[in-house]
Amino acid sequence: MQIKQEMGNTRNEKKDCMKMRIGGEWADPAGGASIEVTNPATGEHIDRVPSGDHRDVDAAVAAAESAFPSWAYRSYGERGMILGSCARLLRERIPALAPLLTGEHGKPLVEATGELMGLAHVLEYYHSISGTVHGEYRNLRLYGNAIVTHTPLGVVGAIIPWNMPGLLMGWKVGPALLAGNTMVLKPASSTPLTNLSIAALFEEAGLPPGVLNIVTGSGKEVGEPLVLHPAVRKVSFTGQVETGKRIAELAARGFTRTTLELGGCDPMIVCDDADIGEAVEGAVRGRFYNCGQVCTAVKRLYVFEDVAERFQKLLAARLAGLQVGNGMDPGVDMGPLNNAEQHRTITALIEGVREGGEGTIVTGGAVPQGERFIRGNFYAPTLITDVAADSPLLREEVFGPVLPMVVVEGLDDALAQANASRYGLGASVWTHDMRRITSACEQLQAGIVWVNQHLRIPPEVPFGGVKESGIGRENGYGSIDDYSNLKSILIAPGKGRP
Ligand code: NDP
Repeated sequence: MQIKQEMGNTRNEKKDCMKMRIGGEWADPAGGASIEVTNPATGEHIDRVPSGDHRDVDAAVAAAESAFPSWAYRSYGERGMILGSCARLLRERIPALAPLLTGEHGKPLVEATGELMGLAHVLEYYHSISGTVHGEYRNLRLYGNAIVTHTPLGVVGAIIPWNMPGLLMGWKVGPALLAGNTMVLKPASSTPLTNLSIAALFEEAGLPPGVLNIVTGSGKEVGEPLVLHPAVRKVSFTGQVETGKRIAELAARGFTRTTLELGGCDPMIVCDDADIGEAVEGAVRGRFYNCGQVCTAVKRLYVFEDVAERFQKLLAARLAGLQVGNGMDPGVDMGPLNNAEQHRTITALIEGVREGGEGTIVTGGAVPQGERFIRGNFYAPTLITDVAADSPLLREEVFGPVLPMVVVEGLDDALAQANASRYGLGASVWTHDMRRITSACEQLQAGIVWVNQHLRIPPEVPFGGVKESGIGRENGYGSIDDYSNLKSILIAPGKGRP
């Protein structure tokens, strides 16, 4: 791959293994084990990375601690300029990086390119606000003059999943670094290559060594020591609910701050006055983008009964026409699932639905036919109707290309069913009726509500979940506060009146 040639110095020739990034150097792991990175479309091993442990976490945290004082001393403007330079260089290198992301993740090249452009946009956003972080001043009269200052926390840890390794890296790196912190990031074990390459690229763009460090390895051996490390002041985690609960428990031992972005089971409500063509396209993109592996993907579809039959026909026809295949091939709409475990989970789930009579499989429901699908983790886009109310399809987060559709009597029915979930990440309503829009926006229990669209998450607005979908918010101006210590300084008023 081109990126490997450009980054030839990243590889340990003896072990033929991409290394970790610690203190601006390609670092050998303390132990000798490594993790195979596999192309999910072909089953081929494309690279290896070190399987690190607590000793590597210690080394990375030490590098981040030693880089911290001079990084924290710089102004927001200077730090923002560097993030802007990283974004510029990243945009130039997207043609080389996108195939690497497709190779380790499976998503079509066009989606990998879009994700990396999204990462560049996130960094540009933090660059754009860098001149406006000034703290606060208030004249409180009798209480005196109040000044609120932001100081960075120190070393922060980031743990990210495999579904959007580029974009999610930006959601954590952007605000943390702009606020003056240094970072140790643990990528997902199935998608570490893009994160390692981006970290080196940022340093090429001017990020000082040690400000951003990457330690590869498992959740147990690297993730947990990172959360427990006494010098780590905050952990920002994105991943499954159960892992989030474990991290919250570990972090509580040292009163380490956490932001937890967890799973979702997003409802999409289609009213009878919606533009049905647009809503069908919204459901296709909302569910089948990234092979359905998005926290805010449409995971439950609630359609008003008057339009349900038409909606279902159009949707099924669109799904039957989607091109499934290797993300590197032109014209492919949907790649494979990222890993074999996900493939087994989805396959078993649909078998359970079929055997238990929990729904009617309208289209999909199997591995697509053909020799090229045998070795990869492919699954056909699947639409299921007549779903039992207690089916896991509606209760649990299904991380794959499977969409259950439920017919509802009206908005009250739709809202009641949409809210009957332990998750509360995103939700969308499709209608042009202002009263329905207002009711849905007020009543939907979610961190983000879309009207006549689903899925877009711009860095300019806060993002996060309610209920078991998480604690805290990422993105938006407030994320700077989340990565800062706020100090209130009260200066006593002078004697007499001015
Ligand atoms: P996991 O929770 O399995 O893993 C996420 C990360 O945590 C990985 O880097 C993993 O390492 C690591 N990890 C696993 N166990 C531990 C542990 N005990 N301590 C510390 N770190 C650990 O999630 P997935 O990778 O399967 O990602 C999919 C999930 O992410 C879905 O639920 C999805 O909804 C959610 N997600 C949420 C988003 C949001 O913003 N709310 C956005 C995107 C995804 P390793 O890879 O080595 O196992």
